[in-house]
Amino acid sequence: TASGTGPSDAALRERAARVIPGGMYGHLNAALHGPTYPQFFVRGEGCRQWDADGREYIDLMCSWGPIVLGHRHPKVEEAAARQLAQGDCLNGPGPVMVELAELLVDLVPSADWAMFSKNGTDATTQALMVARAATGRTKVLKAHGAYHGADPWCTPSPAGTTPNERADLIEFTYNDLASAEEAAARADGDVAAIIVTPFKHDAFEDQELADPEFVRGVRALADRIGAALVIDDVRAGFRLDLRGSWERYGVRPDLTAWSKAMGNGYAIAAVTGTDALRDAATTLYSTGSFWFSAVAMAAAKATIETLRDEDGIAAMEHAGRLLRDGLEEQARAHGFTVRQTGPVQIPWLSFEGDTTLEKGMYFSAACLRHGVYLHPWHNWFLSAAHTEKDIKQALEGTDRAFAETRAHFGAG
Ligand code: PMP
Repeated sequence: TASGTGPSDAALRERAARVIPGGMYGHLNAALHGPTYPQFFVRGEGCRQWDADGREYIDLMCSWGPIVLGHRHPKVEEAAARQLAQGDCLNGPGPVMVELAELLVDLVPSADWAMFSKNGTDATTQALMVARAATGRTKVLKAHGAYHGADPWCTPSPAGTTPNERADLIEFTYNDLASAEEAAARADGDVAAIIVTPFKHDAFEDQELADPEFVRGVRALADRIGAALVIDDVRAGFRLDLRGSWERYGVRPDLTAWSKAMGNGYAIAAVTGTDALRDAATTLYSTGSFWFSAVAMAAAKATIETLRDEDGIAAMEHAGRLLRDGLEEQARAHGFTVRQTGPVQIPWLSFEGDTTLEKGMYFSAACLRHGVYLHPWHNWFLSAAHTEKDIKQALEGTDRAFAETRAHFGAG
């Protein structure tokens, strides 16, 4: 059996290896997280998940983002169940599609319309199609290392893609306005869009908040060259600011890609955009068999309304602040220097000088043993279901994990 996983997980892995390529693929492939991470999960409730062997974890990954109110949130489940009783996948969308679009247009100042799909990649790809349809141009500027999805144009692995599929991307360095200007100059007037995440959340690296000058600068650059500014809010959306993640900077995008947290785990994504791009959006042929299913839309409506009415973002910030302060104090007490980066509700912790991630891997595996599920090289996610009591319990686990990491690596 894979070391550290229980017998049920091991048995499922063995069967999976026969019928699923590599036993698992994509970002939820447990082999990527560490040898002791369980692969299969059977239940989630609030801020907890249970693996196939019944082990319980305080969930600091929230399924890599989708779970924003906690697993099986009653208001979301009730809305989804009510819709499911009427039907999900019909000959046309339900009235809930209009209600959800109205809700987004009402909440998001840069949104005059919304289109829906299923995954973040659908939304980023569709946003670029709108930008290209509107401008008649080809190239897209993106930050080096930024993840925008797994279609051939953006997947981080070249396997199965052709150079042509990436030929229209020009890269700049996040938070470096001069490099974005330079990337634009290289495109020689042919830029359809600048796509950018609200902060730098690349895997394997400390996170970086956006420099306000960079934020205002890319907006001005897009305006100057007549390109659409696309915010990829797939990861941060509905966790930082319901109005959109750059609203706090006073900067509005032309298009925004949303997904992940939008339906508290139900499969849904959206592109929102401004009136100036409405006609271009109208011209696309962009669709999918399941894009109009009503259950996920009902779940999204309930998720967003609950976040709004109960100030879910403040709850996540409060939990995130407690976690960050607690971890800082524990690290110091155990003689570690750590870096905690990103917004407190989308946090990450790295050990100073741990370039091989050896300490980070050891620490996260130790957390797992003590019932805390977090990640060694990808940012974590908090939800509105994380109470002070839950964070306190998580911190008991991380304290023991720091102690074991100290014992393993020794002082100094
Ligand atoms: N953009 C960003 C910023 C993301 O974090 C992700 C998912 N990690 C995507 C796009 C792609 O979303 P999906 O996996 O739902 O296609």
